[in-house]
Amino acid sequence: MSDKKEEKFIEKIKLHSKNKSIEKENMEFRKFLKSDELDEERFQKIVREITEKIDCKNCANCCKALNHVLNEDDIERISKHLDVTKEDFVSKYTLKNKDNEIHIRQMPCVFLAENKCSKYDIRPEACKEYPNLLGKDVTERCLAFFNNAEMCQIAYNVLENAKAEFLEDIYAFNNPYL
Ligand code: SF4
Ligand code: SF4
Repeated sequence: MSDKKEEKFIEKIKLHSKNKSIEKENMEFRKFLKSDELDEERFQKIVREITEKIDCKNCANCCKALNHVLNEDDIERISKHLDVTKEDFVSKYTLKNKDNEIHIRQMPCVFLAENKCSKYDIRPEACKEYPNLLGKDVTERCLAFFNNAEMCQIAYNVLENAKAEFLEDIYAFNNPYL
């Protein structure tokens, strides 16, 4: 094998083992979260700190990848702002999902303009709450939390910081006989 080929091969092995070790780390953290052993106060402190640091106005990934659900208040507020009836707003801008919830019709969201929300001050509750970590019981939302971490900087940073913060607890939980 030439030197270059060998280097590439070694890089591949390193990447593979790195991915494997992150997978293992995430799996152990997930088991820990599901066990209800999590100190919610410490976890929420991390969520608050990360949420304060990250400016969603520079991201908008969720506006491009998700169809946020709208509640009655959202529909009333946004249709009033657009000066259309609620019925017209619903028929022009929304669809229903399989659970019969009304959500924004298109991806990226129709209100996203030059990577910014053009309705930021009156945006739907679901947009404000995403990635649904602040003040929420994460043990009930493990799967969504890990999925969101793949595209949302808030969820990703909360995940990585929480793994570091709870390192000893996660280790003790996953290795009870050591
Ligand atoms: S309404 Fe605004 S915040 Fe919500 S998805 Fe659309 S662009 Fe994003
Ligand atoms: S994906 Fe996350 S960080 Fe990006 S705009 Fe949405 S909530 Fe904010």
